[in-house]
Amino acid sequence: MRLTLLGTGAAGGMPLYGCDCADCRQALAEPKLGRAPCSALLEWGGHRLLLDAGLMDLHRRFAPGSLTGMLLTHFHVDHVQGLFHLRWGPAAPIPVWCPSDPDGCADLLKYPGCLDFRPEMAHDKTWQLHDLHITPLDMVHSRPTLGYLFEYHGRRLAYLTDTKGLPAHSLVLLQALPPLEALVIDCSFGPGVEGRNHNGLDQVMTLCAQLQPARTVLTHIGHDFHRWLQRHPLPRGLEAGYDDMAIATG
Ligand SMILES: [Zn+2]
Ligand SMILES: [Zn+2]
Ligand SMILES: [Zn+2]
Repeated sequence: MRLTLLGTGAAGGMPLYGCDCADCRQALAEPKLGRAPCSALLEWGGHRLLLDAGLMDLHRRFAPGSLTGMLLTHFHVDHVQGLFHLRWGPAAPIPVWCPSDPDGCADLLKYPGCLDFRPEMAHDKTWQLHDLHITPLDMVHSRPTLGYLFEYHGRRLAYLTDTKGLPAHSLVLLQALPPLEALVIDCSFGPGVEGRNHNGLDQVMTLCAQLQPARTVLTHIGHDFHRWLQRHPLPRGLEAGYDDMAIATG
């Protein structure tokens, strides 16, 4: 199982439009130092699953038929904006598994085009996609949001964004398992900053103590936290994700 982080930014990304700080100037000059909308690609046994669809160039990155499907965490714009463009093409239907959220995002659910939305997942209802076991987990966010536990040939990794902490029932579920090989978690803010809908470093450290993952990779990184990361080391065991970072298990 291999997870590639395609985007590791918060909604505004890096560079932040209109910001003239040194880090935004650097990200503008060298795109690989920037952060695209938060998304990832999971690959296993010849299959490819796109996690969230916030990138605006999906049609160039993924030829028709090259994805087994897409898996959405939730319907906030920065996680689905790439679908607005993609849906009108004559491509074969693409399964898009997503949380049940009747509001969706704008008219996506009303006019799906080639997207085959499947809003039937629920917390702790494990399902299987070509040998990959997927367990949806409730998150704490401003609209229905699911994180995902992936299990493949005894290897486990969790992709948890967007969330502030975890609901007790999601935490208990993960704590009942052997430690994760990798935890990829939403961390938008630096130490001492309390967000409304996203983890900061303090919440992530609490979760790490509770879950004891073998490695923890931070994603959904906000502008100010990105700047903090250029100037401070992270506590032991934590890694800052970056665009195109690959995380392999097994
Ligand atoms: Zn987001
Ligand atoms: Zn800036
Ligand atoms: Zn969100």
